[in-house]
Amino acid sequence: MKTKAFFRLVIILGIGLALFDKPGRASIQAGPPAQTDKVPVHAKIYKRLLIRNAMVIYGNGEPAFGPANICIEDGRIARVGRVPEGWVPEAEIDATGKYVMPGIINTHIHLQDERGGVSQPLQYEMNLYLAAGATTVRDVGSEWEKAKEWRARSADHLMVAPRILLYERVWASKGSHTAELVRQGVRFAKQLGVDGLKMSGMDRDLAEALIDEAKKQGLRTAVHIAVDETTAKDWAELGVTSIEHFYGVADAALDGIQNFPPEHNSNNEIHRFGRAGELFIQPNLNRQKLSAVLDLMVKNSVTWCPTLSIYVASRDIIRAQNLPWYKDYLHPTLEEYFRPDLQHHGSYFLGWTNTQEVRWKKDYQVWMEAIKEFALKGGNITVGDDAGFIYSVYGFGQVHEMELLEEAGFHPLEVIKMATANGAKLIGMEDRLGRVRQGFIADLLVVNGNPLENLRLLNPYGTDVLAYDGKVVNNYSALIPGDPKIKAEHGGGIEWTIKEGIPYHVPTLMKEVKVMVEEARAERAKTK
Ligand SMILES: [Zn+2]
Repeated sequence: MKTKAFFRLVIILGIGLALFDKPGRASIQAGPPAQTDKVPVHAKIYKRLLIRNAMVIYGNGEPAFGPANICIEDGRIARVGRVPEGWVPEAEIDATGKYVMPGIINTHIHLQDERGGVSQPLQYEMNLYLAAGATTVRDVGSEWEKAKEWRARSADHLMVAPRILLYERVWASKGSHTAELVRQGVRFAKQLGVDGLKMSGMDRDLAEALIDEAKKQGLRTAVHIAVDETTAKDWAELGVTSIEHFYGVADAALDGIQNFPPEHNSNNEIHRFGRAGELFIQPNLNRQKLSAVLDLMVKNSVTWCPTLSIYVASRDIIRAQNLPWYKDYLHPTLEEYFRPDLQHHGSYFLGWTNTQEVRWKKDYQVWMEAIKEFALKGGNITVGDDAGFIYSVYGFGQVHEMELLEEAGFHPLEVIKMATANGAKLIGMEDRLGRVRQGFIADLLVVNGNPLENLRLLNPYGTDVLAYDGKVVNNYSALIPGDPKIKAEHGGGIEWTIKEGIPYHVPTLMKEVKVMVEEARAERAKTK
């Protein structure tokens, strides 16, 4: 392109941007630097909170813009852009050099106040999820009576926790072996006040009754398809809201059934998880069938929450057992639960072989290709970590899920969209959640650095960064080896997780986690 023409184009584009800037999102220069005496207090409710001078990741996959100011009033985003005249905030966050994105919607978690019958403070899990940027969590299976209390306490801001949605199995509490019982159970769950239903491993006729009744009751549904009669094809035909994990997707693509050995026992966790890692590499997997089931899922608007991160220990157990954040942040209850024990769900690493890991690695390749194909066809992928099992720690699993989605072939902006706007769509809150949009609920993250450059910045532990002359720079910068100003440092992390306008200071949350862990370890040392 000739230089003159190029400049003309730039001018036209510039005018275009000025004319078509969407309301409330003007990327204007921010005002004077923040007044330090206005730094928010952790977990305090403010009527008016200002985030100043931020680069904004909107949430729908469009490029970042800024610097911009974000005015928060009564828990909502009141303005993105210029601070209105006379609008005086009670507290201010200076986001110079930081990125602001929507709060993460984690669509597959389990609320846990115990592991293997040993107590563990719920606050430990809640702090970690907030620290990882989750402002909404979809619980897909915990104790109903307790969970509904936690949901209420979080909604009333009486507990430091993300917003909680409950997709529960309570529908099965009175029996689930006939279609009539299933229908009664769904109506019972509706009366109790669930946000949705969670199912796993059902016969086709019962699944049919459940989905039909759930639709009549206006309830959304999430299915963990086991290796059983129903596959993703059945559930997509029936119109389930979301498919969790991967099992049933691979099964729907087989010509026939899995070629498992005669001694296979689904109640043996080694058999179950070992063979699960072979589903996508079964010799009778038919790629055309796989594409067809993905098409069907897209056609019937079925969301896929793959939970890639919960299985990664299976493809690299030594890494999973030695993560650096265990030192300060692994609660001893969780640590004990993770230890190899066939009585604990997901603790199957007894004599785990390299061959088993290699099969899992190959399984992941096909699985990731399927996820990519599904998304390219228009399918809705969301981010869920399913932590609390298999060496996955709450929140840390969530950022790893995002890293794995990048590995599956998505741009970090797309991954962030999956974690925000896509999640909002799944839970039916896309009209008020998942974007940095005026009028939306003020669920926002203030990130130390640019997560588009490195998703790992979202890790509650932080991450390694390259600093030049005391300033964090891209590690592809033109640096000269031997320059003494080059330093490896620890940085990143989210600084503030804002839920409904309430600022939670992540370093404070993590300090509290550390204390909880220290105290629990000291308690155990006493009884030894
Ligand atoms: Zn789960």
